Amino acid sequence: MSLEATTNLEQELNPWLAAETRFDLAAARLGLDDGMRKILSKPARELTVNIPVQLDDGRLQVFTGYRVQHSIARGPAKGGIRFAPDVTLDEVRALASWMTWKCAVVNIPFGGGKGGVICDPAVMSEGELERITRRYTAEIMDFLGPERDVPAPDMNTNEQTMAWIMDTYSMHKRTTVTAVVTGKPLNLGGSRGRPEATGRGCTIVSLQALKKFGLDPASSRVVIQGFGNVGSMAARLMARAGFKIVCIAEVEGAVYNPHGLDIAALLKHRKDSGSILDFPGAENMDAHEALFLDCDVLLPAAKEGVITSENAAKVRAKILCEGANGPTTAVADDILADNNVFVIPDILANAGGVTVSYFEWVQDRQGFFWNEQLVNGRLEEIMVNSFRDVVSYAEKHGVNNRIAAYMLALDRVAFAVKLRGIYA
Ligand code: GLU
Repeated sequence: MSLEATTNLEQELNPWLAAETRFDLAAARLGLDDGMRKILSKPARELTVNIPVQLDDGRLQVFTGYRVQHSIARGPAKGGIRFAPDVTLDEVRALASWMTWKCAVVNIPFGGGKGGVICDPAVMSEGELERITRRYTAEIMDFLGPERDVPAPDMNTNEQTMAWIMDTYSMHKRTTVTAVVTGKPLNLGGSRGRPEATGRGCTIVSLQALKKFGLDPASSRVVIQGFGNVGSMAARLMARAGFKIVCIAEVEGAVYNPHGLDIAALLKHRKDSGSILDFPGAENMDAHEALFLDCDVLLPAAKEGVITSENAAKVRAKILCEGANGPTTAVADDILADNNVFVIPDILANAGGVTVSYFEWVQDRQGFFWNEQLVNGRLEEIMVNSFRDVVSYAEKHGVNNRIAAYMLALDRVAFAVKLRGIYA
């Protein structure tokens, strides 16, 4: 590969550039005025903190963390916190802006934010993770709060991480503040249905897309990349809805069975053996090749930037349901459109998670908790309506689903900014 090609791919893979490209296209198409464009294109606030942590062996290490609040125009900033060795400020920026657009697409009263800490949870003990989480919380605490900024889990963070954040915040406030984070354990103010919510949302919108094409779940083949929270929940719920899950890909490789994988058995196999590979009755496959299998629904549920200008032409799925944030680069969008792949963009497809986070926040603030049926019913209503809004907007304006979702979101956020006016 030439140096120029490498640099171009590097640029293409920069999530913030990917977010900006879509923003510019949607803003131009909406005819957004220049001033509004300037306001909405930049994050409102970016915080970088250096977090000293004592490791188990006694050494002191300083980790860098970020919290970006992209917009608070429609409500408190909302969005997850990820722990990963390759977190960058540009990535957190992009993810924060996607939260703004995502909350606006599903029309819940939040802005957008995101956090990230550069660390490798795979090599850290539980105690080290607790100390890094608590100190990071203490460093960003002035910017958090149920009315300010409400974090949630993301890559490599979970219910336990949220419990530590809630506790640290509450200790400083001298009162228990459950609504400061969502995605908490059930007995600490978490919501029923929250762990499944993102996967459930993906299932709901995939079913809507099938319906649109007159396809039946029982004859639909699904390929899922990633078997973490989103991928495994989506796999379980899609299998329950009748889909045939023919392939699951993880970092170490993929497993393929054209007749459909038994998801519960695969989860058990991974638990027992430490890997999805060598699953009885399935073929092992190269992880990258999984993306190019002939299938009805392809569901990337892992990282950003997996479908790029270099491989998008090889995607043979009818429907691309983006469970992950930013799995497709901006350049790849055009290639998928040329090949008539029906894209359910991330800011719609994976919005089930933040939608149930909203329900959790509402329940915490009321101190009144809903049963699972109520949570799932309300989630379904929001996902079905949002899918319909995006797809009909795309058809009406002759744009692809992603740009339609951005246009819908930008319009809602711009309207809020206009009504509020500029404080000087
Ligand atoms: N991290 C999830 C996302 O990217 C959930 C965010 C939330 O619930 O606030 O949508």
